[in-house]
Parts: sequence; C-alpha cells; structure tokens
Amino acid sequence: MHEITAISEMRAWSRVARTRELRVGFVPTMGALHDGHLRLVERARELADLVVMSIFVNPLQFGPTEDFARYPRDLDRDRDLAQAHEVSCLFVPDGLTMYPAEPSVRLDPGPMATSLEGAARPTHFAGVLTVVAKLCHMVEPDVAVFGRKDFQQAMLVRRMVADLDFPLAVEVAPTVRELDGLALSSRNAYLSPDQRRSALALSRALREVEKAWRSGQAGPAVLHKKGMEVLAAPGVEPEYLALVDEELKPVDRVTQKTIVVVAARVGRTRLIDNVVLGDGLGADPTIRS
Ligand code: AMP
Repeated sequence: MHEITAISEMRAWSRVARTRELRVGFVPTMGALHDGHLRLVERARELADLVVMSIFVNPLQFGPTEDFARYPRDLDRDRDLAQAHEVSCLFVPDGLTMYPAEPSVRLDPGPMATSLEGAARPTHFAGVLTVVAKLCHMVEPDVAVFGRKDFQQAMLVRRMVADLDFPLAVEVAPTVRELDGLALSSRNAYLSPDQRRSALALSRALREVEKAWRSGQAGPAVLHKKGMEVLAAPGVEPEYLALVDEELKPVDRVTQKTIVVVAARVGRTRLIDNVVLGDGLGADPTIRS
C-alpha cells in the first residue's frame, strides 16, 4: 500500500494509474475506521481497479461547539486496517496541506442543505462539499463511494457532482450495522455502555416506522408519531424524525422510496440514522463478528 501526504504526489499517482488504463475508486473518510468504511472499500474495489482511501479530519465541517478536537484519531490502527483490506493508496494530507490558509471560497450546498442536518449544523455541508471537491481534485477518481448512513451528505455530493460536472461517478453504499441494529459510526466510541443501549432507540424507531408502513399504515403524520414515541426513550434527546424523498423534501405520500431519517442526542453525542422503507433495515449488512 502506498501512503501519500502531498497533493502533487497524489495527483501523479492517480495519473499514472490512468495512463495504465486502471480505474481509480475513492473512499474519503475521517479515519477511526470501522466496518462501514471497510465495506465502502470493498464496494470501490468492485467498481474500480485501484482504491484510494483518504483520512482527513476536516475542520471546516465542524461547528465551533462541535467535537473536532476530541474526534477519535488513530492513524496506526487505520493504516493496518486499510492495508489488510487492500487499499492501494492511503492519502493522509495534514491540515496545512489541505488549508494553507483559511479558505475564503467555499461551496454553497443550496436548499437541500437547509433542513435536517443542515438546520442543526448550519455550516456543516458547505464544509463537507468543499473538502470533497478538493479531495476529488487531488485524487481524480473515476468513482467515489459514500455511505448511505450519512444520507443527506450522500445526496448533496451526488448533486454537487451533477450540478458542477465533476468527471466521476458517485456510488452510495448501504449502512453497516451492529447485530443489534446500531449503525456503525466513529462517534459510537464516545458512548458509555448505558448510552450505547439508549442509542438503539434510533434504529428501533426506524424499525417501528417500517413495521407500521408494511402493515398498511401509509399516513406520514401517523408514521412520524409512532417513530417519535420510540425515539423518545430514556437517555435520548430526539432532534428530528422525518419522512423525506431523495431531495430531502417531506413527503405527503409514503412510498417504497421514502426515506425515514432520524437524529438524536445521547449524552453529548449526536447520532443519525435512516432507512429506505422499501429496502428495510433488514437489507442493511451487519458487521462480521
Ligand atoms: P466519516 O469517516 O464518518 O466521514 O465517513 C466516511 C464515509 O463512510 C462516509 O461516506 C460515510 O457515510 C461512510 N460511513 C460511515 N458510517 C457508515 C456505516 N455505518 N455504513 C456505511 N458507510 C458508513
């Protein structure tokens, strides 16, 4: 596995791959790798000949009171995992490489970023899209793979790539879960054992909505109420539960394609999850024990 820290070297590596007619797949991450990230690598390997993974904890996407400083970082462990999963190239630019100066130009994610996560984290998606755009200019991938776990993010990246004619394909891979339903997240490391139990309220709420929908309940208001009742469990501060379409707009009519998105705080930790009703939580892969 190659490990690269300089932008010029990253671009050169990718261009050599292209002259050899090898397709480059790209998995951007903030590290603290788990099975969710590693499945994205596997998916990228199915779609490309070589896989680049980046690890960069992007300060631009954290709000001033958020967890940038304490976000888990363990490059040695991440390197071993990346190597074991046959990542071809690990790109680990440092803060000064990515932002030699505070960037004054940032991407405007538009109206799809004003609701849900965007309402709770007003500068988050501008930070995400800015770093994804920069990383794509450095890695020059043929395909980039994102997790559906961060549904609004994945849809916004798709939209950015379409609206700004980035020369790459975007693939969105399903959410990897623990056996009990908890969506894997680097932030789960913040949870105490009690909080971890409370955190199951998110996937339970999604399951409850899915169950009610499958048994014929089609009214968005009723489904919302059922989900919220489960979400409001001891130790959980619900933020939102919404039934939306792929453009993140609330739906009047619930269909197979409707996505139920949920966010809640457990202690100081903010967690998100979602399900596409037609697929169901049961279709999501679980970790290999
Ligand atoms: P992060 O390191 O949290 O920025 O995530 C990097 C990528 O991994 C993003 O595309 C996430 O959506 C994706 N990801 C995070 N958690 C999961 C998960 N449980 N299953 C699948 N993809 C995930």
